[in-house]
Amino acid sequence: MILILNPDACATKPDYRQLMEHLASLPGISTRVHAEAGVEQTLTEVYLIGDTKSLPLEDMQSLPCVDRVVRISEEYRVLGRHKNDDRPTHFDYNGVRFGQDTLNIFAGLCAVDTPEHVELMMKALRDNGLNCTRMGAYKPRTSPYSFQGHGKACLPYVFDLAGKYGIKVIAMEVTHESHVDEIREALAQAGNPTGVMLQIGTRNTQNFELLKIVGRQQDFPVLIKRGFGITLDESLNAAEYLASEGNSRVVFGLRGMKTTGADPHRNFVDFAHVPVVKRLTRMPVCIDPSHSVGARTCSPEGILDIMQATAQGVIAGANMILVDFHPVPSKALVDGPQALKMNELSHFLEDISIAREAYVQRTALAERYPDK
Ligand code: PEP
Ligand code: MN
Repeated sequence: MILILNPDACATKPDYRQLMEHLASLPGISTRVHAEAGVEQTLTEVYLIGDTKSLPLEDMQSLPCVDRVVRISEEYRVLGRHKNDDRPTHFDYNGVRFGQDTLNIFAGLCAVDTPEHVELMMKALRDNGLNCTRMGAYKPRTSPYSFQGHGKACLPYVFDLAGKYGIKVIAMEVTHESHVDEIREALAQAGNPTGVMLQIGTRNTQNFELLKIVGRQQDFPVLIKRGFGITLDESLNAAEYLASEGNSRVVFGLRGMKTTGADPHRNFVDFAHVPVVKRLTRMPVCIDPSHSVGARTCSPEGILDIMQATAQGVIAGANMILVDFHPVPSKALVDGPQALKMNELSHFLEDISIAREAYVQRTALAERYPDK
């Protein structure tokens, strides 16, 4: 059960203390408080854990400070969509809104290699009106002999250049808690010119200790990728780990599933699950067509498979696109064969606009046929 408190609820006020004292007196019930600081107000939610079935909804509704009560199922307590649950399906970070009704495009380098390539990328983004990107500094690689990313050494120039070109959010994978500290320190040293969305990669979806650490910090929102060989439920529970530790600014990323059935694609494109994740949870949903398709193959109509997959995700309501670009794919140190080229950015964006417009029209059409 979740008690959603009035917007003016405050831990120092007597009615709040009265509420907490009452909750503490309920046998077999423990509480966990989540405070989400928004631009205008702080949303405070009190999670009641234990046997809450016997607690009458009306009684809880009438407690001091309580605005609304939501009875939740066991699953995805914080991030799930529950009956009569009108908690927000968006969050704001560094001036950018991430929601189940927005679309943010994170085109960028799979792995940072040189300052020149980072600058060419950021400039292309700015010139095309984009304010988010992806930049891998810590790369988990299949072979220990492959390039592992420049790590913290590249952070100063990546953050400076992001500031120079007006980039507000950089998606950056972390594989260890020290990376979070390194990012925080480098951002502070650069004067916080940009923001970072921490990325949990598919190889770490069930790295529970990493999830707890990333979930305990509130500085950065998190993009968690679906595990490539586990069920959707297991991956959604992994996302819930982040939220249960306190960070519910979470985006869920689909990036294809590992199976030989995916051939000739790198992974089996799973973007039909975009609406499923939106139905089960309140998380914005990201698609990663680059790591799904894994190649620059092209359809007879002249549309790259990566663009085809992107359109499939966007027309189904995707909220974020994580996509590999590179100024000189042949020189990329990671995943060059799947990188789109700079001169393909405007084609890619126009193609996305068409798919997004179709999605908007489809939702309007569905409203005209409300009986389901
Ligand atoms: C990535 O986005 O760079 C990446 C490694 O993705 P994934 O974890 O989905 O393989
Ligand atoms: Mn990659």
